[in-house]
Amino acid sequence: MTADVADTSHRAPQAAYRLVLANAFDHLRKAAEAFSESHLTYSVEYFATGLELILKARLMREHWALLFAEPHKASPERLSDGSFKSIGLDRLIETVFVLTRVSLRPEAKATFHEIRNARNRALHFHVEESAIAAAASQQVRGWGELKALLQGAWADAFDIDDEVDERVRETDERFHFQRDFLSKKYDQLKEHLEHAYGGRLAQCSSCRLQSAVLERPDEHLTIATCEVCGYNSDQWRCDSCNGENLISHSSVKCRHCGEAVAVLGFCGSCNDHTVGAPDGITRCFSCGTVFIEQDDPCEWCGELWFGSDLGESYAFGCGECGGSFEAATGETFSFDED
Ligand SMILES: [Zn+2]
Ligand SMILES: [Zn+2]
Ligand SMILES: [Zn+2]
Ligand SMILES: [Zn+2]
Repeated sequence: MTADVADTSHRAPQAAYRLVLANAFDHLRKAAEAFSESHLTYSVEYFATGLELILKARLMREHWALLFAEPHKASPERLSDGSFKSIGLDRLIETVFVLTRVSLRPEAKATFHEIRNARNRALHFHVEESAIAAAASQQVRGWGELKALLQGAWADAFDIDDEVDERVRETDERFHFQRDFLSKKYDQLKEHLEHAYGGRLAQCSSCRLQSAVLERPDEHLTIATCEVCGYNSDQWRCDSCNGENLISHSSVKCRHCGEAVAVLGFCGSCNDHTVGAPDGITRCFSCGTVFIEQDDPCEWCGELWFGSDLGESYAFGCGECGGSFEAATGETFSFDED
């Protein structure tokens, strides 16, 4: 049955996703092989392409024309001869989760963006040997997210049969190498870490090992640097359970106990409703921006904003409303309309 689908793909573009999916698994295999052979630059590039292709295959299940950067110019001929510009990874990440009505966990989104950034760097500069643990961590997390989607929310859409199932299992085995790499490094460092840092250790948000050193453990917000994978992040401590949380989480809920920070308003930098001040310092718990100036209410809807220019908000609204212009015309005002 799979072979039939592949053979007729040029006539039936809606079935071409099977080829893209197969290609994705090939890239993930090459990423794992390159990693174990210490060809780190290739590994980073292959992995990001594998991720991109799985997302593209899923998008093609909605409609193959969505693969085109300009879907209105899509045609089966252009799909089969490749003469088109395809959707970029950023838009792909945004689009695929909206269209498939699957909410992308903030950690997953951050991981996908990290993988994209690593590829952008790898395309221009050789990936240094010192980045090996960071790459291992990205691949373990990235594959973990993909596997959860393939076996969970996206399984029906992908029509997961024995063949695909087998490839998921195979791929999973391949990334054991990276997992082992990280835990071996942790085992070597463990004693030293506990001796040197004791109470300043927290779970790393990237490799999940108890190897992140908090710079100022007594403060509510601090920088954490992982001694195993090198992941560097701003962390905040939950008042209820003392658990460490990552800033850049687009959530104000503690990931350990679910307790939320009291939210004061919207952030003018990232537009999330995640500005709070549990320790008296007003900051966004999603993007980390610290605000010194007072909050401002939107003159139309009354929502509170930090670090946003609301001078024209009565007329044109804020990130949450369209102001009196939209109320009167039914249209959204946009400054960048051409
Ligand atoms: Zn780490
Ligand atoms: Zn908590
Ligand atoms: Zn923000
Ligand atoms: Zn408003």
